[in-house]
Amino acid sequence: MQFKDVIGHESVKERLIKTVKEGRISHAQLFLGKEGSGNLSLAIAYAQYISCQNKSDTDSCGECASCIKFQKLIHPDLHFVFPVATNDEVKDKPISANFLVQWREAVLQEPYLSIANWQEKIETGNKQLLISKNESESILKILSLKTYEAEYKTMIIWYPEKFNIASANKLLKIIEEPPSKTLFILVAHDVSQLISTILSRTQLVKIGIVDETILKNELIKKYALEDSLAQNIARLSDGNFIQAKKIIEQSEQEELFFSLFTNWMRAAFKGDVPSLITWTDEIAKTTFGREKQKQFLTYCLHLVRESLIKNFGKPDLGRTANNEKGFLANFAPFIHGANCMEIINLLNDASYHIERNANPKILFLDVSLKLTKLLRVEAPSEVG
Ligand SMILES: [Zn+2]
Repeated sequence: MQFKDVIGHESVKERLIKTVKEGRISHAQLFLGKEGSGNLSLAIAYAQYISCQNKSDTDSCGECASCIKFQKLIHPDLHFVFPVATNDEVKDKPISANFLVQWREAVLQEPYLSIANWQEKIETGNKQLLISKNESESILKILSLKTYEAEYKTMIIWYPEKFNIASANKLLKIIEEPPSKTLFILVAHDVSQLISTILSRTQLVKIGIVDETILKNELIKKYALEDSLAQNIARLSDGNFIQAKKIIEQSEQEELFFSLFTNWMRAAFKGDVPSLITWTDEIAKTTFGREKQKQFLTYCLHLVRESLIKNFGKPDLGRTANNEKGFLANFAPFIHGANCMEIINLLNDASYHIERNANPKILFLDVSLKLTKLLRVEAPSEVG
């Protein structure tokens, strides 16, 4: 991770670089910023910069032996501590070391990692993630090792809010009398949840939200969005890159679902079996996954209900997107009192069976053929 990979925060980057140039790197620093601010990325970029063998005035080189290891997060002098919990694989006394492989994967895939996504990644269900007292023993062990290659040993602690008191106190003792050439970077998000002694014993580096214009430009670059759309998303996400990404992914998913739904309904209405088979192959692809198939069925139910509401002449509830409105104008008349309950039950049942591992190919084809029949049921005359 280089500084150039971190969105915005130019003045923070400058200040950090200055500490390296002037040889006054504080040994315990608290990178405090909200989720989506990029504080974890900054911490890694800073550690990479310190260790880089060929650094410039503005960034690490990205090419030296040290940088290459940092970019894979496998440098032997780079250590991570993060909150964990038990899961199916790690059943007792979980510590960061048990989850290092998943950690590297998660951070390399998305350096703007949220704790919710981390929890999902390590499949710990709803258990509370913690940095336990077993962890502080492991930290002591790591720090007693000599540095391998770099001048500094860096320990990045993500979410120090999740320390329990006993382990935080142990860590604080180490911070007070640190082994030489050891750098602690605590990447925290919520100052109110931090033990006050952590605050008083670390140097605070405040990371604000990402500047709106900088975020907008990043969204244009990364997602090829139009200027005005990127501007809107940047504003809605309040300088939070994680939030911006979520908005984009949601709208991408809705677009995909919309096109799947319209193709499905058209083919079903025509009774076009070859198209229905192609469509089924598409949605049954393993990349789609059961969770997404279920979400798609929920989306279908939403449009069926919107159609009914439209037929009964209720005012627009404002929950339908513009492209959906256009389609519903033509589609709604085919959803009516004589078939709506059956269609809703059909979609609900499909969702139920997907959850219970039904074969999606067989299931969606079966639903398609039933829909072909149901969409041709004539509307009762009083609604028609
Ligand atoms: Zn380098």
